[in-house]
This record gives sequence, structure tokens and C-alpha cells, in this order.
Amino acid sequence: MADKKQEILKELYPEDIYQYSSKLTLGEAEVLQHTRQIIEKELRPVINEYWEKAQFPFEAFYKLADAGIMNNPKLFVGREGETKPSQIYNTFLYYELARFDASIATFYTVHGGLGYNTILIGGNERQIAEFAPKVANFEWQTCFALTEPDHGSDIAGGLATSAKRDGDNWILNGEKRWIGGADTADIVPVFARDVDDGKIKCFIVRKGAEGYHAEPIPRKVALRPVQNGHITMENVVVPESDRLEHINGFKDVAKILVNTRTDVAHIAMGITGGAYVAAVKYVKEREQFGKKVAAYQITQEKLARMLANVTSVIGFSTRLAELMEEGQYEMVNASLAKMNNSLLMRETVALAREVVGGNGITLDTDVSRFFADAEAIYTYEGTHDINALIVGREITGIGSFV
Ligand SMILES: Cc1cc2nc3c(=O)[nH]c(=O)nc-3n(C[C@H](O)[C@H](O)[C@H](O)COP(=O)(O)OP(=O)(O)OC[C@H]3O[C@@H](n4cnc5c(N)ncnc54)[C@H](O)[C@@H]3O)c2cc1C
Repeated sequence: MADKKQEILKELYPEDIYQYSSKLTLGEAEVLQHTRQIIEKELRPVINEYWEKAQFPFEAFYKLADAGIMNNPKLFVGREGETKPSQIYNTFLYYELARFDASIATFYTVHGGLGYNTILIGGNERQIAEFAPKVANFEWQTCFALTEPDHGSDIAGGLATSAKRDGDNWILNGEKRWIGGADTADIVPVFARDVDDGKIKCFIVRKGAEGYHAEPIPRKVALRPVQNGHITMENVVVPESDRLEHINGFKDVAKILVNTRTDVAHIAMGITGGAYVAAVKYVKEREQFGKKVAAYQITQEKLARMLANVTSVIGFSTRLAELMEEGQYEMVNASLAKMNNSLLMRETVALAREVVGGNGITLDTDVSRFFADAEAIYTYEGTHDINALIVGREITGIGSFV
């Protein structure tokens, strides 16, 4: 059985030369293998077209549900009664998706990471029972509405969207910006400040709610298929029964963010791996001065640096997954991984673009997508600076955000 698992993993991730993926179970490896088959059959043929026309390939994406990426019973062997698959599987699921395409991984993290974790962490039993299964099997699309036009990095203290209790209802007013999938989501968890006690709470706004409007942000040069919405809310009514009961302040929001910051570290890991694999493929095919570009020492030095980066980011992510599985993790762990993986991702996509030459700026080699998309990952889920400040506070004991 171990041989079968190793065979699958060698085929899926030949670049994982330190074999971090061997921590996956056979069942988890099989789900990832099935995911790869769906990606190659359904998504690869259309991804560049959708990137160029800035539309999301919903039909092809939802084929991923056939692999049961969030709830395949193979993921719960030995984890009976758990609501989520293992952290190591989660790490390699993000690796698998982002190694193919950052927009697909980002759309998934908004839905299956940010949105889903908000329901699991914030919801009461009834709310989890109503929302979680539909989100897990992709029947309902969800997202995560926290950032605002005037408050990005300083959202914890600055959040301005208001919620006013009115009998059995709440009235929401305000704006949100950059919210992935906001225009198509069936349920939108919106974070707003209760005008009476000043605390941040979370409200499920359902599709079609009066006064809710989401306009996709146009002319993006990264993650073009993902529609990031600018939301306006004017007297949107949400019943008390749709307020997530366990979110009562930013400390509860932080519990969600620590999970998704980890997921984004894994996305950076996937982009790093994907850019490396695409670059190796190209230089082995391309000839200049009568030899493969791969045959030149300067190219090989760059490939070696890229592989070192790939190995480093997989190491960061898998160790973080182990710590999370053991319940031993803090925001600083997630911030360190997101910061490190994003830095190495940025260097790797630049090296990949370099060795691919002119074709590295067309969509034909995959490298240009990774290169452009890396910039968005560098910024969302805590910019490089903000994550560095979280790590810096841990090192020095001095918070220097303001
Ligand atoms: C593609 C994309 C998808 C996103 N998806 C979502 C989503 O689904 N839901 C959601 O809620 N949000 C989402 N966001 C928002 C994202 O989390 C914010 O963009 C991020 O928090 C940064 O905020 P900002 O863009 O307003 O930058 P700002 O906060 O305005 O920062 C601008 C610059 O100033 C720096 N800076 C700020 N404060 C400090 C400081 N104290 N010290 C040093 N430097 C500082 C920053 O590092 C940055 O370089 C998304 C963003 C992008 C780009």
C-alpha cells in the first residue's frame, strides 16, 4: 500500500524531492490524483481563455466536486466525526490547485477556506447544519466580506460597516471591497460593527437581499478570472437567526484568519511549484545556439535556486500543517509561513519568467499567469509588511503597527 501511495505521489509531485508529501495517506493521495485528472481534463483546456477574458470557469470548476475535494469519505478514514479533512491534505490540496492556477486556488480559498471556516467557527449547531454541508458539496457558493474601501491593513480597528439591531432583525449599512465571488455567492458572511456595543459581528446575507449590490472590480492584471466585488449595502435586513452566534469581536475573526493565512501560505507554495515545473518543461524544449536552454550552466543555477525555494516552501507549509493538526499554532506561525512562502514565490516566478524569455510574457507557457497572479497573493490575507510586523512583534515584544 505504501508503494502504491509513493507511486501516485511521485507521479503527482516529482519536484517534492524531500518527499514531504509522503505524510499524506493513500486515500488522500488518491483524492489528489482524481483532482489532477479533473484539472487536466476540464480546467487546463480553458484556463488561459478565461484568464484573458476575465471570467471564472464555473462549469469546469464545479467538476472538482466529483473528486469530493472537501468531503470525500476517503479523507475521513481515521478522522470519523471530524468536519474537516486533515491539515496535511489541506496543504497539498492547495498545492495541487495553485500549482495549476492561482485563480482556481484563490476562488477555492474564498469558498472552502474563508467562507467555510467562518461558518464552522462562527456558526451555532443549527447554522452549521444548515450551511456547511451545502458549501462542502458546492451546492451553495460562499465568500468572506471583511475588507472595506477605506480599511485594508487596519481593518481590525477601522471596520466601519454598521449593524443596528431592530427587533428580531439587524440593519446593515456600508461598503466592502475586494470580496472574491461577492457577485455570485449564495451566502455572503458580512462583518459589521454593532453600533450599540461597538463589537464586530458576522451576518449571513443571502442572495437577492434587498439593498445589497456587488460590482466586480474591473481591469485587474492579476487573478483575472476571480471576480472581486465592491459591495454596497443600504439598509440590508438580516434576521437575528442569520447572525453567526460565535463571532463577537475581532479576536473571533482572527481565529478564521489564522486558518486562511495558512491556506494562502499553501497557495504561495503551489505557485512556486507550478512556476518551477512550467519553467523546467520549457527550457528542456527550447533550443538556442544549437543546444537546449536547459543545457546552459546559468539556466541550471536558476533552476537549482527555484527548486531550493520549492523545497523550502513545502517544508514550511507541511510543518505548519503538523502544528495545526496538533492544535499548537498561533497567528505568528501562519504569518511567518505566509511571509516566507510569498517572498520565495515572488523570487521564483521572476526566475521562471526570466528563463522562459519572451514567451514568459504570453499566456502560452503558464509562467506569465503565475508571474502576474503572484502579486495578488503577495498582498491579500495580510500584506508582506503586516505579516512581517506580526513576526516582528513576536521577536521583540514590541508592536509597531501604529
Ligand atoms: C486579489 C485580492 C483578493 C482579495 N480578496 C478578499 C476577500 O475575499 N475578502 C476580503 O475581506 N478581503 C480581500 N482582499 C483584501 C486584502 O485582504 C487587502 O487588500 C489587504 O488586507 C491589504 O489592504 P489594502 O489593499 O487596503 O492595502 P493598504 O492597507 O492600504 O496597504 C497599502 C500598503 O501600505 C502598507 N502598510 C499598511 N499599514 C502598514 C503599517 N502599519 N506598517 C507598514 N506598512 C503598512 C501595506 O503593507 C501595503 O504595502 C483581497 C485583495 C486582493 C488584492
